[in-house]
Amino acid sequence: MLSTHPLDDDHPHEECGVFGVWGHAEAAALTALGLHALQHRGQEAAGIVAYDGEQFHAHRGLGHVGENFGSKDVIARLPGRAAIGHVRYATTGEVAIRNVQPLFADFEFGGLAICHNGNLTNSYHVRRQLVRRGSLFQSTSDTEVIVHLIATSLKQSIEERLVDALRQVQGAYSLVALTQEGLIAMRDPLGVRPLVLGRLGDAWIVASESCALDIIGASLVRDVEAGELVMIGPAGLRSTKPFERARKRLCIFEYIYFARPDSLVDGISVYEARKRIGAELARESHVPADIVIPVPDSGVPAAIGYAAECKLPFELGIIRNHYVGRTFIEPTDQIRHLGVKLKHNANRNLEGKRIILVDDSIVRGTTSTKIVAMVRQAGAREVHMRVSSPPTTHSCFYGIATPTRDQLLASHMSVEEMAKFIGADSLSFLSIDGLYRAMGEKRREAKAPQYCDACFTGDYAIPLVDHDAGKVQTQLSLLTQTV
Ligand code: SF4
Repeated sequence: MLSTHPLDDDHPHEECGVFGVWGHAEAAALTALGLHALQHRGQEAAGIVAYDGEQFHAHRGLGHVGENFGSKDVIARLPGRAAIGHVRYATTGEVAIRNVQPLFADFEFGGLAICHNGNLTNSYHVRRQLVRRGSLFQSTSDTEVIVHLIATSLKQSIEERLVDALRQVQGAYSLVALTQEGLIAMRDPLGVRPLVLGRLGDAWIVASESCALDIIGASLVRDVEAGELVMIGPAGLRSTKPFERARKRLCIFEYIYFARPDSLVDGISVYEARKRIGAELARESHVPADIVIPVPDSGVPAAIGYAAECKLPFELGIIRNHYVGRTFIEPTDQIRHLGVKLKHNANRNLEGKRIILVDDSIVRGTTSTKIVAMVRQAGAREVHMRVSSPPTTHSCFYGIATPTRDQLLASHMSVEEMAKFIGADSLSFLSIDGLYRAMGEKRREAKAPQYCDACFTGDYAIPLVDHDAGKVQTQLSLLTQTV
């Protein structure tokens, strides 16, 4: 059986990416390209729903965007000047077609397609109430909770119904929805997950990241603001802020690892931020060494910043095989162990060298342990691991797949213990204030932090309703449907 395991490379992972087009004859084709640029945000499944002025058309499938939308025939079956799309990661381990988004529902006011990036923290709670009132759920996705809340709302317009639904949920979400009246883009009140607005001629585009605008030649207009609802229809664009204003708390991990380096997130270049993060790391914890090497690919920009700051050569000491993919024949421990060796190999330029090895995070420590051993086998004299984020001590509940807290190495080991565990001569993490300095802030404002950084601090800005009640997302066990 083929299986994918999102945490095999021991990084936290984005769960989703969203994209939408309003007012272009090639809406579905543009959406497929946009999703292709967002593939790093979700590789389990992809889906597009298009609207041609009379009817909605959907195509969804498991696997990569190219596997599902690589043929002209598929795109031809998605006519219309408006479309939305989604890429997704599994969080529950269940890989089923019923969870592939965008979801679509027929209401008395017409059709609605909807998808989001993020995670609702009270979806179990709300879902139980809905089920008691007679709602029948088709998927395990928390997006469907929003669909049922829209269905049961007593408000008149679709926009009012959506706002009414979102007032009853808590969590982090950047969502796009498509109705007969227009395209809706909405970012949660704290703006935890990114969302941008762009233009391509007269058409409007929304996307999780600006790299998805670049791929279709669209220009970046601005970020959708925290708590902003944008309605795009025949009359143009209208913006409202239906929720009480709150201090923005964008996920700081977007800059460390998740977003593509060629994206601008909330106006900040991800690549430049990563280089500044690397430079700050060097200022905080440099030790005498001969070369700086990144753990590819995600450690590259921080290693460039680190090497420039301490005036050491930047070398590619580890080569990553890009063709391995995330697919394993059997998800056994033995094969997962092999997976790391399949992905990375040490270069032959490490003999006798004192090495600064830069990675963006340590989650369970499995990859770091193998990479340090690999570098030593290649002849490195000393290996000093430098991590361009603070220790990941807490799980994320806002749309990032992380292991449970007890599996996070930093939650139960000191830095010295972790160094020993991964076999490095020394180990240092970027401090939380160092991270904020790299982001252009003086320090982390303890009373009003400028970003979400809960996985480093445990400071969860959005209540963890389900988690605190000991509940997890409901599993539907009666139907398993795959393609
Ligand atoms: Fe991002 Fe961490 Fe906050 Fe999750 S907990 S949204 S990964 S900063």
